[in-house]
Amino acid sequence: MPFIQLQNELDERATLGLLRSRRTLSSPQSPHIIVDGKPYLAFCSNDYLGLANHPQLIAALQQGAQQWGVGAGAAHLVNGHFDPHHQLEQQLAVFVGKPAALLFSTGYMANLGAVQALVGKGDTVFADKLNHASLNDAMLLSRAEVTRYRHGDVAQLEKQLAQTRSGRKLVITDAVFSMDGDIAPLRELLALCEQYDAWLYADDAHGFGVVGEQGRGSMAHFGIASERIVYMATLGKAAGVSGAFIAAEQVVIDTLVNHAHSYVYTTATPPALSVALSQSLQLIAQGDGLRMHLKKLIAQLRNGLSDLPWQLMPSDTAIQPLLVGDNQLALKLSESLRGRGIWVAAIRPPTVPQGTARLRITLSAAHSAADVDQLIGALHELAQES
Ligand SMILES: *Cc1c(COP(=O)(O)O)cnc(C)c1O
Repeated sequence: MPFIQLQNELDERATLGLLRSRRTLSSPQSPHIIVDGKPYLAFCSNDYLGLANHPQLIAALQQGAQQWGVGAGAAHLVNGHFDPHHQLEQQLAVFVGKPAALLFSTGYMANLGAVQALVGKGDTVFADKLNHASLNDAMLLSRAEVTRYRHGDVAQLEKQLAQTRSGRKLVITDAVFSMDGDIAPLRELLALCEQYDAWLYADDAHGFGVVGEQGRGSMAHFGIASERIVYMATLGKAAGVSGAFIAAEQVVIDTLVNHAHSYVYTTATPPALSVALSQSLQLIAQGDGLRMHLKKLIAQLRNGLSDLPWQLMPSDTAIQPLLVGDNQLALKLSESLRGRGIWVAAIRPPTVPQGTARLRITLSAAHSAADVDQLIGALHELAQES
């Protein structure tokens, strides 16, 4: 029976401390969640601005459902493209300073669809080794030649670009790295793209709403703009709802509408979600207070954890990974924290490279200074015990 094989593979993963399983929340997303009937102080969501349970977004979603119903009922190219989708796309394009934008159901689908539509056989993609799994899958699906460069290594990328003579060239990077929290050298990457006539695909899942003036994202953070940049961001993280978008030149967007399979062959998202997202975009634009508070929490955490046996990785963003190294130790620390009523996810290979298991601490504007102090205190207790 093939089931025995599957079970053996799962057992092997468990032995390595790599088995994954789910916990069920019985409360809305927030720093204070209920899991299996117990309350926890959580530091693992990507709800960086605390919008996932915001009363104005709940009201917008309710109103959106009243007006537009529940389901879109069809793909965008059939008759599932509604006013709220269209308006949101225009608002998103303006917000990030691009001529046009296109909504996708999820960030995973946006990456699969966009990369596959923009490059193919005979073309080359250049990818940072620590890119998100969805970008790695997207490159494989595109059938373009794949070249990877060491994390943030602009010099290595330049050599690779210089050696590539034919076809389109697409440099792909997380803008804010999802498991490390550092920001890609977008300015240098863009300069190389200009020099070697390549496009720059920036996945800003963790920067949109959080970095840059008014939360306009990583391009705004560096003050860069270029026709060569294809900008992608998700709407289920800082934006607090669901979905994703690509913002780019009109001809790129038209190409995606025609060729991105994950756009063409899927049902449009409920228009009510776009109503909520338009409201979310306003909260993001007005969210300087939230971002300021988040910044203070980041500084507080980094100060408070500077003397631990485990190092916080270099990061200025809401993603503050505590590098542990060993898989089992990362799991054990995560479990010990849970015993103290604190929820922090242990991240292990293959999500991160071998030997770099970590506690991925994420902060949200919804946390209080007292919440962060509680985490700092608990980690110091664990350090003394170990
Ligand atoms: C979360 C994430 C995605 C996927 O976005 P979803 O909307 O959750 O599917 C893509 N890229 C990066 C870097 C991410 O962190």
